[in-house]
Amino acid sequence: MKLILLGAPGSGKGTQAALISEKLNLPHISTGDIFRDNIKRKTEIGLKIKSIIDGGDLCPDDLTIEIVKQRLSEKDCENGYLLDGFPRNITQAKALDESAAPDKVIELVIPLEKIEKRITGRRSCVKCKSSFHVDLIGNRKDCPTCGGELFVRDDDNPTSVKERLAVYKTQTAPLIEYYAKQGKLVPINADLPIEEVFADILKVVK
Ligand code: AMP
Repeated sequence: MKLILLGAPGSGKGTQAALISEKLNLPHISTGDIFRDNIKRKTEIGLKIKSIIDGGDLCPDDLTIEIVKQRLSEKDCENGYLLDGFPRNITQAKALDESAAPDKVIELVIPLEKIEKRITGRRSCVKCKSSFHVDLIGNRKDCPTCGGELFVRDDDNPTSVKERLAVYKTQTAPLIEYYAKQGKLVPINADLPIEEVFADILKVVK
């Protein structure tokens, strides 16, 4: 099965993707994680995109599309994929349609006014990439899932969050209509506890 998780920053894509990926045995492909890994390793790509990501803008389409194409050509994607954070605009969606069009697009729906609080209280794990809200884990410095170190993403600050939301509204939200027209869009209420959102997703993908 070829699945896309669509939703604003902070809507819970990464969290749900990890759960779905394990349950359905699909490779979880997060372009954000791939970019952050490149930044951490100071690769040529990483050096090129660090300031773009920190500012909350989108990385260039040609680069992003190429990275995803390469990743999708790997053996573990033979039976499908779970894309998290790609596509982010119509150009990327069209490129994906030409190579490996999705079967379903799960849209995680959350009121935009709740997002800033979700993101600015977010702690992410260096190791397993899970994220948690400080309201749940307090000052804990180790990941409740794998024990890895927790960190605050450089782009999880109020200025970048504002820009990321603006980018979402202008560039990514049009994908909702794009996939609705294709009959592939499945909106899911993401303003619920993690397990409930996951259960609702499973009902539509099983
Ligand atoms: P994410 O982890 O999905 O929130 O992505 C973090 C950042 O990586 C975004 O704010 C963008 O700067 C960049 N990024 C991730 N995915 C894409 C994409 N599909 N197209 C362009 N930039 C992306």
